[in-house]
Amino acid sequence: MLEHDVLVVGAGLAGMRAAIAARAAGANTAVISKVHPVRSHSNAAQGGINAALVDRGDPWEDHAYDTVKGSDYLGDQDAIELMCRAAGGAVIDMEHMGVTFSRDDDGKLGTRAFGGQGRARTFYVGDFTGQAMLHVMFEQLIKSGVRRYEEWFVTSLIEEDGQVCGVMALEIRTGQLFAIRAKTLIFCTGGLGRVFEPSTNALIVTGDGMALAYNAGARLMDMEMVQYHPTTLAGSGVLISEAARGEGAYLLDKNGDRFMEKYAPNMIELASRDVVSRAEQTEINAGNGVDGCVFLDCRHLGETLIKEKLSQIREIGIDLAGVDMVKDLIPIRPGMHYMMGGIKTDVDGLTNVPGVYAAGECACVSVHGGNRLGANSLLDTIIFGQRSGNHAADACRELEFVEFNVDEAVSREEKRIQAMLDRPQNGDRIASVRLAMGETMNKNLAVYRDQAGMDETLHDLVGLRERYATVPVDSKGRVFNTDLVFALELGFMLDCAETITVSAQDRKDSRGAQARTDFPDRDDENWMKHVTVIKGEAGPDISYLPVTITQWTPETRKY
Ligand SMILES: Cc1cc2nc3c(=O)[nH]c(=O)nc-3n(C[C@H](O)[C@H](O)[C@H](O)COP(=O)(O)OP(=O)(O)OC[C@H]3O[C@@H](n4cnc5c(N)ncnc54)[C@H](O)[C@@H]3O)c2cc1C
Repeated sequence: MLEHDVLVVGAGLAGMRAAIAARAAGANTAVISKVHPVRSHSNAAQGGINAALVDRGDPWEDHAYDTVKGSDYLGDQDAIELMCRAAGGAVIDMEHMGVTFSRDDDGKLGTRAFGGQGRARTFYVGDFTGQAMLHVMFEQLIKSGVRRYEEWFVTSLIEEDGQVCGVMALEIRTGQLFAIRAKTLIFCTGGLGRVFEPSTNALIVTGDGMALAYNAGARLMDMEMVQYHPTTLAGSGVLISEAARGEGAYLLDKNGDRFMEKYAPNMIELASRDVVSRAEQTEINAGNGVDGCVFLDCRHLGETLIKEKLSQIREIGIDLAGVDMVKDLIPIRPGMHYMMGGIKTDVDGLTNVPGVYAAGECACVSVHGGNRLGANSLLDTIIFGQRSGNHAADACRELEFVEFNVDEAVSREEKRIQAMLDRPQNGDRIASVRLAMGETMNKNLAVYRDQAGMDETLHDLVGLRERYATVPVDSKGRVFNTDLVFALELGFMLDCAETITVSAQDRKDSRGAQARTDFPDRDDENWMKHVTVIKGEAGPDISYLPVTITQWTPETRKY
């Protein structure tokens, strides 16, 4: 019997941090990941990680204020305070573990400016910070002796008498199904970027954990808050990191004007992401772009700086768009990038479902509220990953394993999977359902939204769900059947798409990433609250939670 006190689902930064903490606290701990841990999307993070270091004259309260303002006052201030206070120590810990942060001319840890922040407090490793952190975390994971189920895919949760007591997982290499018993589960499954098409996110970022938890009764929160990043490459939608603007790049319209001066006279290109994305979209809609894009201008930064600090994004521009940022403008536009919402947790990662925790992008604490500041997500993963690992390990001491019939659980899941494989060909394809979903989401739940558009998407989703029920899985084998994995992921994505759309329809104001043309103002009187969803009989049931305010009274947001 596979059995663990703490089973962490996901081995990105949040998952590995949680597992290392739980193991250090003495729990029998395992991580399970559908890809090799260092292929998790955390690997793609480019720009950096935020922390205020007091010995540099940067009190944590300033970082917390910038985060609260960035969230458009929807973030819970107690959680934000906790994260920002712990940030300095967490970054230094990462440095001590072996992350080779870039240095300044004095040999001290270097910082770069990031959007929406009063000062440069983003620590970085060139423009591949996530990769550097993830590899170091993986070394620490190996050292810690945590059991790893690599390339195992969680297909469903096991529940007995309403209690979550483990997971069903597919060993992708063999196609065999296993039941894994666990006293506590920590979801660290990352975001859901690929529910939108295009997205900056890796193809594996499909919202599995949010959907699994939601289907087991977990509350999802702030699901309407989907971040569109201001600089994604024309065509492919690949990310061009905010590090470029942090280093001083300009945004230009088709006439070569720095249009951000109109929208954010103080911070200009370094306003918050939602503000910059809206400005770009407004200019593009007004005909001031070219082919649906505006331009990122890095030419004045010089070849030396670009090669030293922005080498990866330069290569992305050359390889994917045929432009060299040393001498050319880069055509960019807003693109889906990050999910602020997710599984509602407290500051220790605990959800409303006993024994179930969540941390990282799949969770909503909520430290990002309506809009996440760049470089606050890597921070979120390690702070709340560690806290949930600690808390779950503690909780396990009081918990017993829940008994369930393993053979029955395996055979039930086996039948469900076999039925998917046995579906007859009907001319439909998983990829076309997935693309249609991504396109309707990107059409109607993007930078600007309105009721009619969202109604259209909700209607589209009903049709896509019907197609999903009969869509054939082309590949019938069991060994490395990625077609089957794609099919299972699509089910999770459709659940996520519905919760996003329903939440966005419900919120009748504009704040952070939600900009409704039919409700253009922020309405604090009626909507200073979190929209949450729980799975009901007939679909998502909406309810609300208050926003926690400690020291920063909501104000009009200007940059
Ligand atoms: C291109 C890009 C650049 C970014 N740059 C920055 C940046 O500079 N700074 C910053 O702060 N943030 C950045 N972000 C955001 C940040 O990288 C992510 O929010 C964060 O890394 C998410 O970490 P995570 O541990 O929550 O999830 P992930 O790293 O996405 O890991 C998810 C894990 O869950 C596993 N998993 C998922 N579903 C299943 C399943 N069904 N069964 C088994 N395993 C499963 C996966 O295998 C994976 O191991 C960037 C994001 C992108 C896409």
